[in-house]
Amino acid sequence: MEGGPLLMIPGPIALSPEVLAASSAAPPSHTDPAFIEIFGRALRAMREVWRAPEGAVPLVVAGGGTLAMEVAVTNLVDPGQQALVIDTGVFSDRMAQILERRGAVVRRCRAPVGEAISPGALREALSRRAVHAVFLTQVDTSTGVRIDVPALAAIARGAGALVVVDGVCSVAAEVLDQDASGVDVVLTASQKAIGAPPGLALLVVSPRALAARRALLVPPPLSMDLASWIPIMEAYEAGRPSYFATPATGLVVALEVALRQLLQQGMPAIWARHARVASEVRAGLEILGMRRVPASSAVSAHTLSVMYPPEGTAGALVGAVAARGVAIAGGLHPQLRHDSVRVGHMGWVTTQPQLLQRTIRAVGEGLASLGHEADVDAACQAISG
Ligand SMILES: *Cc1c(COP(=O)(O)O)cnc(C)c1O
Repeated sequence: MEGGPLLMIPGPIALSPEVLAASSAAPPSHTDPAFIEIFGRALRAMREVWRAPEGAVPLVVAGGGTLAMEVAVTNLVDPGQQALVIDTGVFSDRMAQILERRGAVVRRCRAPVGEAISPGALREALSRRAVHAVFLTQVDTSTGVRIDVPALAAIARGAGALVVVDGVCSVAAEVLDQDASGVDVVLTASQKAIGAPPGLALLVVSPRALAARRALLVPPPLSMDLASWIPIMEAYEAGRPSYFATPATGLVVALEVALRQLLQQGMPAIWARHARVASEVRAGLEILGMRRVPASSAVSAHTLSVMYPPEGTAGALVGAVAARGVAIAGGLHPQLRHDSVRVGHMGWVTTQPQLLQRTIRAVGEGLASLGHEADVDAACQAISG
């Protein structure tokens, strides 16, 4: 949308010019040799971005983050099995809801709003009863809380549980090594830090998770079944066409460009840049009089900032900022809905300091229009050029 607002919401995000160009090409046939090559490259690139374990399978399925969550749940957990959800906000709640629909016996280890779960709390929860699978949300987009995936996954693995990470608001921005962390499924969606248009569910599934699918008594819905999709993904990776259900070809073309651009930069450089940009954006927002929701920087996401704006401005601020050409999001968590706002800073935009400054300026001028004056120039200077 030429001239549309700058998207600084937690997805969909602003696309790089290269991904944007790829998104506007005519969608190819799913059996076109050029498309087969592109799909294969995208799947191989996912292995690198995720740091997939040996023998894992990457999957790209039309849908989004919520579909990816349902794929993980319905392929790993049978009705009646025990699941533990580490609950740091709305998206962990959604995972629990999906598990309940599946008929799982769900327990939650719930953190107070703005806090993470400590390794000790997880150890304690796991000591009480055997658990088949533990579900973690690396960054919960409703609270801006980031958890320590390697520490929590190690404890869950030690207790013999499968580990699933909802990485929808973190993959391709927060430090992640699926193999080293022993995580069985890491899932995301195309429209967040991956930096492609919305419409794809992305998962990398470990051999242990594949074995759990084979052991299921109640199979998942056909279109969500790993058993339906894995032969298709293997065929495309091997350079052969294969059909189960039509892939979203145009989106896969855009995804491949987005993944290639990530790997050209290198994941460590991307992780470091997101950490730096997050602290700069928050420093700017704090100069404008905002306060962060997460309890400490150790548990603060690098992909978005969930902030309390000055007293009395939260209700009108999103609209006031939109009037200045920048889209930010309102509060999402029930306890934060009316007094917080969310500013996304992930993907291509983190390479564009002038756009980050434009965001800070739009927020500052929006606050000023609501009667809260602050030093907007000083706030913009928090962003290093
Ligand atoms: C956005 C988001 C989801 C849901 O993804 P959709 O593509 O909107 O279905 C799930 N989990 C987290 C952490 C998210 O940020």
